[in-house]
Amino acid sequence: MAEPFDLVVIGSGPGGYVCAIKAAQLGLRVAVVEKRKTYGGTCLNVGCIPSKALLHASEMFSEAGHAFAELGIEAEPRLNLPKMLEHKDKTVKSNVDGIAFLFKKNKITGVIGTGKLVSATEVEVTKEDGSTETLSARAICIATGSSVAGIPGVEVAFDHDTIVSSDDAIALQKVPETMVVVGGGVIGLELGSVWARLGAKVTVVEYLDKILGGMDGEVAAAFQKLLVKQGLTFKLGAKVTDVARKDGGGASVTFEPAKGGEAETLTADVVLVATGRKPYTEGLGLEAVGVALDDRGRIEIDAHYKTNVDGIYAIGDVVKGAMLAHKAEDEGVALAEILAGQAGHVNYDAIPSVVYTSPEVASVGRTEEELKQAGVEYKVGKFPFMANGRARAMLKTDGFVKFLVDPRTDKVLGCHILGAGAGDLIAEAALLIEFGGSAEDLARTSHAHPTLSEVMREAAFAAFAKPIHI
Ligand code: FAD
Repeated sequence: MAEPFDLVVIGSGPGGYVCAIKAAQLGLRVAVVEKRKTYGGTCLNVGCIPSKALLHASEMFSEAGHAFAELGIEAEPRLNLPKMLEHKDKTVKSNVDGIAFLFKKNKITGVIGTGKLVSATEVEVTKEDGSTETLSARAICIATGSSVAGIPGVEVAFDHDTIVSSDDAIALQKVPETMVVVGGGVIGLELGSVWARLGAKVTVVEYLDKILGGMDGEVAAAFQKLLVKQGLTFKLGAKVTDVARKDGGGASVTFEPAKGGEAETLTADVVLVATGRKPYTEGLGLEAVGVALDDRGRIEIDAHYKTNVDGIYAIGDVVKGAMLAHKAEDEGVALAEILAGQAGHVNYDAIPSVVYTSPEVASVGRTEEELKQAGVEYKVGKFPFMANGRARAMLKTDGFVKFLVDPRTDKVLGCHILGAGAGDLIAEAALLIEFGGSAEDLARTSHAHPTLSEVMREAAFAAFAKPIHI
């Protein structure tokens, strides 16, 4: 029998591939099993990367249609959807090929096939041709990610054409005239924005009485107003009870007020169900080996990512916590370090989350609602993009930065941004939280002028003293 690997990773998404590369860099002999034809998981194949390629392209299209004229550029953009989809596909290909290259570079054995645990030290891989191979390992990492969740209590017959999930919504071959998005979370708003910019009339139906459930309420409300200006319609506090394909084409969505009341039905060419994702553990052989799940179907782990079975670990979307690529990556690095005898650690208080719409929304740390609920005192420092010179030059004046800080020490407790470049700007606040920094630390750090990052500095000034430019 072949020499066992130090680590076999099941799943090559941001959790699995990062764990594999880091472990190989630390001298471990590593294999990765992936059931897709390409590496990179949900994120690179059908998630983060293709959606961002489409978000960027559709934003350019939309800006060419309305903002260019104000900048003195006269253009009449025409949509070439096949070319836009080709750009998305090429972006995905270059990224997934990049992972295959990194596996080779780090001498990681990649095996394409479906992995199943047959013991605490063995993974059986079934390949496309039906043949099997058993990999033995000193440690196994389950990084099998998540899959589309559907709507609780509602049978949804996805047909990949009219009733679609995000997997299909990144590949529609025609711009629908009308689209209903079920779910006002990140994925629904991002993909709803893509198709709205390309011409679809988009209605978002959301169960909660706000969009972006866990985000800071003030930011979410201001963001919703901007989306309404962009032509999106919202039905909030609406409980979907039925999604059905219609005989003559299109589909209907029936919903009633979450608090009770009359039902309403909307019809659309395409219905995108974007109500979240669930951990993916199907066919993994967990029961046979005795790996425990929690009450939400996630693999249960301890503080070091170990399951209840010695030698078997789990990270990423398949375990508790935010379903985000960088959270999975951080856990991948930490687990590899732990397996190599180092002290791997993730600071879950400093994980940013971003909505890549226009403008972007980003947040890290605690929201005002969370602080209020926990009875924690806080001070607010806010600054609008409108008062930033660069934002004006770019015609990107919507939104604001909001710091929440400890009133005694100025220590940053949370930061919430609605505005251009929010996804990049939030890194400053994440770094502050990671280092236990204060608003004053940021305000006294020189920021190049004229940049959008000055909005961060001014909001930090506002939190401990006064902003300069307002
Ligand atoms: P995954 O990326 O899901 O990878 C798991 C892999 O395991 C898959 O490739 C799967 O095929 C494989 N697998 C499963 N079972 C087996 C088995 N038995 N044998 C072999 N292989 C198996 N997150 C962000 O942070 N930023 C974003 O912008 C963002 N955008 C998103 C947009 C969309 C449309 C979607 C759907 C998600 C987005 N996410 C984003 C979430 C992000 O994709 C996930 O959080 C991330 O992919 C989780 O990584 P993972 O490694 O845990 O799992």
